[in-house]
Amino acid sequence: MDMQIVESIVIGAGQAGLSTSYHLKRLGTEHLVLDANAIAGGAWQHRWDALTMNDVHGVAELPGSTPPARDAKQANVVVPASFAEYERMHELPVIRPVHIDRVTDGEGMLRVHAGEREWRARTIVNATGTWTQPFLPHYPGMETFVGEQLHTVDYPGPEHFRGKRVLVVGGGASAVQFLGALAPITETLWVTRREPVWRDDDFTPEAGAAAVALVEQRVARGLPPQSVVGVTGLMLRPQEREAERLGAYADRRPMFQRIEPDGVRWADGLFEQVDVVLWATGFRPAIAHLAPLHLRSDAGGIQLDRNGRGTTAVKDPRVQLVGYGPSASTIGANRAGRTAAKGVQRALSMTGSDVIA
Ligand SMILES: Cc1cc2nc3c(=O)[nH]c(=O)nc-3n(C[C@H](O)[C@H](O)[C@H](O)COP(=O)(O)OP(=O)(O)OC[C@H]3O[C@@H](n4cnc5c(N)ncnc54)[C@H](O)[C@@H]3O)c2cc1C
Repeated sequence: MDMQIVESIVIGAGQAGLSTSYHLKRLGTEHLVLDANAIAGGAWQHRWDALTMNDVHGVAELPGSTPPARDAKQANVVVPASFAEYERMHELPVIRPVHIDRVTDGEGMLRVHAGEREWRARTIVNATGTWTQPFLPHYPGMETFVGEQLHTVDYPGPEHFRGKRVLVVGGGASAVQFLGALAPITETLWVTRREPVWRDDDFTPEAGAAAVALVEQRVARGLPPQSVVGVTGLMLRPQEREAERLGAYADRRPMFQRIEPDGVRWADGLFEQVDVVLWATGFRPAIAHLAPLHLRSDAGGIQLDRNGRGTTAVKDPRVQLVGYGPSASTIGANRAGRTAAKGVQRALSMTGSDVIA
């Protein structure tokens, strides 16, 4: 059996995990980073080929590095290459592929399990992101649909949809981006649960901070976090202007009531035939492996310290969460990495009986 005891284990090597590892190293904290992917790059390696560095909303540089250039190169190549170089340059202790299926508490240690393999640590930092937890809502009749249903995780790029009537579901940045790419080449329909909130180009740092603060308030109350992008409002970029001109965003409709074999039907009886339903319905935090630690509050989320601005789990200060809730953006993940490294040091400085609140 593979068994090690370390001061800290970081689970996940995306932006949040690498930032944490960088800061832990600077503080001299002995640690390992365990990552499920076979190569460096976190979720970026799984994004669709048509997503270029010009298309991404902005990838903040990892601490102590420069941001990847904004150009027409594929994001799923550029960002993973830059992460690989970063891991090498800073000699970060990443082990992969290791998929953690549960973290348990035993003999005064946190026990991190990957099938038969186990590591033991005095603290953990969870940095597992959301990409592996796509959220698909359920609508009656879904299973009867004879066309194609895809989620953002499956998006194969626009060419796949040419000549098909595509229904895009969701009111977030991904839906806006998909419509921007699809409307110029095929027929699209758009449905959202709520009226989309648009903002213009002058998105100030203050507006960003206010959006993050809204998610912090949820996490401070132990509620499941909301996407940060979901509260910043939507913006059309030059890439989406052609779709806008074609009316792709103007003809937004409320959610349908049910799915039928060849289309969707609204409560008032209106029916639209569609060939594809593209569910741009977001993601949830990938935290099922933490269930044995009982970190969730009655409200369904994991409450974090400092009124949701910290990274320490209120129910167990040996556990930090980064890239969770308000820090689920590349810039937020960077900051959370530093906060988490300090949280780890704090927990390590406590004696066993002091640790659990
Ligand atoms: C389509 C899309 C576009 C986005 N564009 C932007 C953007 O332009 N700018 C921006 O700031 N943010 C963007 N985001 C948000 C972005 O995903 C985050 O900001 C950031 O990249 C997430 O970093 P992370 O380290 O938290 O997660 P990830 O990059 O998902 O890394 C998590 C890592 O943990 C590993 N892992 C997961 N579960 C386990 C497990 N059980 N055991 C071991 N390892 C595990 C995964 O394999 C992965 O390597 C986008 C999100 C999506 C979905």
